[in-house]
Amino acid sequence: MTEHTEHTERNREALLVKTTSFPSLAELFGTAAPCLIAGPCAVESLDQAEAIAQALVRCGIKVMRGGAYKPRTSPYDFQGLGEDGLKILDFIRQKYGVLIVTEILDPRDLELGVRYADMIQIGSRNMQNTSLLKEAGQTMHPVMLKRGMMSTLKEFMFAAEYIAQTGNHKLILCERGIRTFETSTRNTLDISSAAIIKQETSLPVIVDLSHSLARKDILLPVAKAVLALGVDALMVEAHNDPASALSDAAQQLSLPELEEFAADLFC
Ligand code: PEP
Ligand code: MN
Repeated sequence: MTEHTEHTERNREALLVKTTSFPSLAELFGTAAPCLIAGPCAVESLDQAEAIAQALVRCGIKVMRGGAYKPRTSPYDFQGLGEDGLKILDFIRQKYGVLIVTEILDPRDLELGVRYADMIQIGSRNMQNTSLLKEAGQTMHPVMLKRGMMSTLKEFMFAAEYIAQTGNHKLILCERGIRTFETSTRNTLDISSAAIIKQETSLPVIVDLSHSLARKDILLPVAKAVLALGVDALMVEAHNDPASALSDAAQQLSLPELEEFAADLFC
């Protein structure tokens, strides 16, 4: 056996994501567990972000999501405000005391992500972008990795391994549904994956209900079922005027809907 093969074999048996003790979200951020993460699909303006942040504060939600770089299917759709969006998020976290999670698409923007956000999101489309995984890991900033929409759990674990290998243990996984033949939801929420990750690793797990379901009518019962798995957080999209949202208009909760959801969730 060559040295390389031996090394590979050893790692195959003992993945870092399976053997390392990872801090929980509560340990990383001092948030109560389980917690709710909410915010717009995309940051569209300061006014929009402020209106949403104010609703989060009313609900006692401590973590805000919002995209400044949006991975859109069509290049003609809104791509996000870029650095200006990150600056809005930074302003929001300082003014409202919320933590920020935002997606970075390009390794060249990681430095800005570290500067302006508390947790860097690597989205579903980039789960297997190994350069981005490694460079995001090397920032030593908290990284939330979303499951690829067509990835097996094993592939998800190996993607997480690229980050863990850098020595960055501020690693959080997010289940966001996978593509199946079923069309009644945008993706099929794989709740068994969250249960398996919780059972086999100490990694914090977040379930993104909005991108899984893309429907609001079943959000509450599904959220309650997911909480029963013992996940660390749920994530939902919310917007001050969902009908005019520049992305994911159909799935974003209005602010009154968010307040009702947050109030009902932990009852
Ligand atoms: C998002 O959370 O903004 C997003 C684009 O989600 P996903 O990568 O899961 O599609
Ligand atoms: Mn979205």
